[in-house]
Amino acid sequence: MEMLVRRGFIWQSFEIYGGMAGFIDYAPLGNGLRRKIEDLWREFFVINERSVEIDTPTVGIEDVFIASGHAEGFTDVAIECSSCGRVFRADHYVKEKLNLEVDPTVEAVKNVVQEFNLKCECGGDFKEPEHINLMFETKIGPGRGKKGYLRPETAQGIFIAFKRLSDYFRNKLPFGVAQIGRAYRNEISPRQGVIRLREFNQAELEFFCHPGEKRHPEFDRYADDVVTLVDKFDKEHRVTLREAVEKGIIAHELLAYFVGKTRRFLLAAGIRDEKLRFRQHKDDERAHYAVDCWDAEVLLSYGWIEVVGIADRSDYDLSRHTQFSREDLSVFVPYDEPVKVKRRRVVPNIPKLGPAFRDRAKKIAEELEKLEDAGDEVVLTINGEEIKVPSEYYEIREVEEEVHGERVVPHVIEPSFGLDRITYAVLEHAFDTDTVDGEERRVLRLERRLAPVQVAVLPLLSRDEFVEEAETIAGELRENGIYTELDITGSIGRRYRRYDEIGTPFCITIDHQTFEDGTVTIRDRDSTSQVRVKKSELVRIIQELLNSGKSITEFGEVFRP
Ligand code: AMP
Repeated sequence: MEMLVRRGFIWQSFEIYGGMAGFIDYAPLGNGLRRKIEDLWREFFVINERSVEIDTPTVGIEDVFIASGHAEGFTDVAIECSSCGRVFRADHYVKEKLNLEVDPTVEAVKNVVQEFNLKCECGGDFKEPEHINLMFETKIGPGRGKKGYLRPETAQGIFIAFKRLSDYFRNKLPFGVAQIGRAYRNEISPRQGVIRLREFNQAELEFFCHPGEKRHPEFDRYADDVVTLVDKFDKEHRVTLREAVEKGIIAHELLAYFVGKTRRFLLAAGIRDEKLRFRQHKDDERAHYAVDCWDAEVLLSYGWIEVVGIADRSDYDLSRHTQFSREDLSVFVPYDEPVKVKRRRVVPNIPKLGPAFRDRAKKIAEELEKLEDAGDEVVLTINGEEIKVPSEYYEIREVEEEVHGERVVPHVIEPSFGLDRITYAVLEHAFDTDTVDGEERRVLRLERRLAPVQVAVLPLLSRDEFVEEAETIAGELRENGIYTELDITGSIGRRYRRYDEIGTPFCITIDHQTFEDGTVTIRDRDSTSQVRVKKSELVRIIQELLNSGKSITEFGEVFRP
């Protein structure tokens, strides 16, 4: 953390006013890294998925969160000290002070507090534990306004636009909708630095599927990947995803597909496989909307930390929004071939209805035809009037009909990524020390394409001609879209160390020979070796190096000065 602050990755927000837990500033390098991780995510979950990306407001009206269940159910159990007034998230406090896992229910917390005579850090007694809602409340418009909330997840913006989205996809399941953006949770006592924030960045994919077809046509891409799974009984499995589905460890192929894809994405971002596992939520741990959930957890200095939640939310959200908005959010799914079904029909006897009911006969006939079945008498309400129609006015016939499809409320599988945690995890896993020329060196072994500064151009001397040459070269790299810094101060050794520490994969040095034969050197961060290349080929070579895993040895004779 010291390095991240000093070098300009992450800063405490509101620092000059004493700061506030749960908020961070993305400093220049951290911002660059997070943006690139977002782009990588987009490549996996939008460009190379059956999905699109949208962007919806971060403020939501109250109706949305009543329907979604967040207004009532998005809570943590908190304990408040009756003496100093501090409030703690109960399960975290119990874990910290007693090293116990307590179920996050009021009852369980109450028992633990009593049994262990748990006190506040100040020595005071706790009041009765209670549920506290985590949403930030706000007011929309002036005066009394309308109640609103800052969104606690980006997902709801997708669910409430479902009708439009389904039309956009011509109602063809399955399809995915992604959103990257801020989410807000008024966490009770965020004490883990960047891990638990009150304003954070999510990348979510809502993948809508037919409830009876929880499969993905590209499952085979990941089916043979071996993953570490910890099931809800805390049993660990090292299995392929295919085995995990066959053995019923993961409920279905679609969840397994996203476990596989999530793993590949995290590895591409530089997360280490041996420090990555997927843990199934226990029955009492799942969010109010989930029927099965697997978290991607990464081993960090804080312990195993959840960075992604992959949940089967079933039809919970669409059904709730249908119920509360009265909009039908089902999709008509055509069958491959029409199906013949036998059905009972109520057939009105028109010649008899006419004389008996006169001007109401037509309407009665229409209503009778809508019925699925009827007994000895049917009671209809027409224009507010109750009309009894005895069975002599209709007949029940069995008919065969062609059915072309069915209406279903899609289920949704949701991989939900916390970009802040992933960014931090990438930094921790990339951080390394080694020895170069007898000195200890700190190096951030970031994936090349994610490095916030991709190239540093370093003139050996600060003389005018060196600096001018460096400016020309840096300008050319920038014109080609490469993030380039120019650094002319300090010894070359110190400058290399700075760029090693911020993860810059390549340094270009302008030295005496540059003026003799038009060549510069490229230094590789990881090996610290160099090659000499022609200036005229520099942009192409750097592009190739950044976009591939190629070694600098492919571009010239390697040397170490
Ligand atoms: P959830 O909807 O709780 O499954 O959250 C989805 C992802 O968002 C989690 O896997 C975390 O990576 C991230 N996340 C949740 N809460 C926070 C928080 N308070 N601060 C930072 N990231 C969070």
